[in-house]
Amino acid sequence: MTTNDKQIVRDYFNSVGFDRWQRIYGDGEVNRVQKDIRVGHQQTVDKLLGWLKDDGNLASLTICDAGCGVGSLSLPLAAAGARVFASDISEKMTNEAKSLATDPDNPKFTVGDLAALTGEYDTVICLDVLIHYPLEEAEAMIAHLGSLAKSRLILSFAPYTPFYGGLKKIGEFFPGPSKATRAYLHPEKEIKDMMARAGFRVKRETMTSTRFYFSQMLEGLRW
Ligand code: SAH
Repeated sequence: MTTNDKQIVRDYFNSVGFDRWQRIYGDGEVNRVQKDIRVGHQQTVDKLLGWLKDDGNLASLTICDAGCGVGSLSLPLAAAGARVFASDISEKMTNEAKSLATDPDNPKFTVGDLAALTGEYDTVICLDVLIHYPLEEAEAMIAHLGSLAKSRLILSFAPYTPFYGGLKKIGEFFPGPSKATRAYLHPEKEIKDMMARAGFRVKRETMTSTRFYFSQMLEGLRW
C-alpha cells in the first residue's frame, strides 16, 4: 500500500503531473484555474518566507525542503542565505528546480522518497506534499521528518472540513484525463496530534485559500 501510493505519486510527477505542475509553478501562460492555483500556492510560499525572514536568522539556518517540487521555496530560501537541502521523489521536478538555480551548490538537490532522508537540519519543511497521501502515511512522514528537525518542522496540508469535503473542488486540483493521483484532505486536529506525537507544538499557523487552492500551514517547534 505504502509503496503503491508512492509509486503512483512518483510516476505522476514524472509524467502528466510534471507537465501540469511545472506550468502552474512557473510564470508562463496558464488557464484560469491554473492561474488561481498558482496565486494561492505563491501566497503560501510568501507567508512562509515572511515568517522565516521575520525571525531574522534565516542566513544562519540549515533547511531541508522535503518534496521541493520545482524549487518554489528552496530557491528563494537559498537566495536569502540559508543552506538548503532540497529533495523530491520526482526526478523531473528536481531537474527542473536544479535548472533554475543560480548557485550550483545551494540548494543541494537530491532525488528520492522523503522517507529515506537522513541528517539533521535546523528546520525541516514539507509544503503541499501530504495532500498526496492518506492519513496513516502522513503520520509516518511527519514522524520521520520530525526526527530530522533540530528545532522546527513546518508543513502544509489540505484541511478536511465538511465545506471542502462537500465541494468537489479537489476535482479541479487533479482534473480530467490527467487525474493520475488523488487528493487526500486531512482533519486539522489529526495533523496537529501527529505533530505533537512527533515532539512539536504549533507556534504559527495560517490558512490560504483561493477558489481552487487551499492549504493550511503549521509551524511546529520542539517542546
Ligand atoms: N513543496 C513544493 C512542491 C509541491 S508539489 C512546493 O510547495 O512548491 C508536491 C511535490 O511533492 C511533487 O514535486 C512530488 O514529486 C513531491 N513528492 C510527493 N511525494 C513525495 C515523497 N514521498 N518524497 C519526496 N517528494 C515527494
